[in-house]
Amino acid sequence: ALFEDRLSHALAGLPRTGGGLTVLFVDLDDFKTVNDSLGHSAGDELLRAVGERLGHNLRGTDTAARLGGDEFGVLLEDAPTFTAAAETARRLLAALEPPFLIEGRRLNVSASIGIAVADQSSETMQLMRNADLAMYEAKRRGGAQWRLFEESMHATALGRLELGSQLQRAVEEQQFELHYQPIVRLSDAAVVGAEALIRWRHPERGLLPPKEFLPLAEQTRLIVQMGHWALTEACGTLAAWQEDFPRRDPLFLSVNISMRQLHERDVVEDVRAALAEAEIEPQQLVLEITESFLADEDEATLGRLQRLRALGVRLAVDDFGTGYSALSYLQRFPIDILKIDRSFVEHARRASTSLSLVRSIVQLGRSLHLELVAEGIEDAEQAEALLAMGVTSGQGFYFAEPLEPERFGALLASDARLRLSA
Ligand code: C2E
Ligand code: MG
Ligand code: MG
Repeated sequence: ALFEDRLSHALAGLPRTGGGLTVLFVDLDDFKTVNDSLGHSAGDELLRAVGERLGHNLRGTDTAARLGGDEFGVLLEDAPTFTAAAETARRLLAALEPPFLIEGRRLNVSASIGIAVADQSSETMQLMRNADLAMYEAKRRGGAQWRLFEESMHATALGRLELGSQLQRAVEEQQFELHYQPIVRLSDAAVVGAEALIRWRHPERGLLPPKEFLPLAEQTRLIVQMGHWALTEACGTLAAWQEDFPRRDPLFLSVNISMRQLHERDVVEDVRAALAEAEIEPQQLVLEITESFLADEDEATLGRLQRLRALGVRLAVDDFGTGYSALSYLQRFPIDILKIDRSFVEHARRASTSLSLVRSIVQLGRSLHLELVAEGIEDAEQAEALLAMGVTSGQGFYFAEPLEPERFGALLASDARLRLSA
């Protein structure tokens, strides 16, 4: 309240004093992780310590306040230029750099800062909102930095809002498609399965890849409905292929599951229903879950995964190697498959110095008796190197990109080998 009061006073006096007035919006990066993993009392202690450091790095004429949660506001009353405000932002970021000692642990904390400079016509709420938008932009660019508010940020925020309502409609009107990327056996390049990858057929913008809309879908929870649709659709498609192109070794299908979906829907029931409706064998369905999610290791997740596994479906760790997690979850969770992330596959060449890293991942998987699928294979050299290390299957542009269902069907009809390693 004091902060807002000072701000509106300073704003009212602005035409008279002619001085500079700047608002900084400071928001901690990943504070939720601290709170969730170390508990609220540690979170509170951290907030107090952060507040202190911020305070020590301001001048007597500045006002700092905690606005709520992990957000702090700073009012610079005689920062005549933007340069002075940027200097302050830099100083505050630097002040947060040394680790905090909280309940005996060293915590590294960073913040995102948005800066809004007032002019004669600024209003309190608008100035705060501008600083907030600039902070959001700093966060979007990865955090631990400051941004100055620009008018275009309004447009970006509006765009996000717009995209949000379009996405809502897209869910209602079923504007999504699944494309299927073949997964091949590396020894002979025969198609053994496919990964279903979602696309948005946007009425004006054409076909959009997941990175254009999944983050927003996660934020707005629409991912829960989308994910349910994808699961049902994928199972239906597999059943149709099975009928049209019967084969000796049944094809398997990999479907990506988001963590929200696992938390907020009865995924076990969804999967059971989808399998029953499509009349496909549980062994033919693989559910892909990203590693960072599994690193959470909570009991509820474990229970759900165990029940999914009990249905007979297989579980894969997606993007394996990118989660920086303790590997203990590999033993706790009922996992069948590791999907080696593209960033490692990239280095799978005979001459590469990073070869030993890929090799270690492969050995880890093999010693735990997990099946290995390599992601993002782009050339023959990678395919051969992976095969030599003991990776059984893979996917990537070298073999085929994600295909529309009809094209995938045609591939099955021709029973083609995608490419044989020399
Ligand atoms: P992912 O599950 O790791 O899927 C593999 C991604 O790598 C796909 O991107 C695929 O098109 C791309 N890719 C395949 N081969 C190559 C290659 O040789 N080189 C390169 N550079 N890329 C390759 P896509 O389709 O854009 O999907 C991105 C991510 O979106 C997926 O990563 C997955 O995490 C997520 N996603 C896709 N569909 C769904 C879905 O239905 N539900 C959920 N929750 N997430 C999905
Ligand atoms: Mg995947
Ligand atoms: Mg992946």
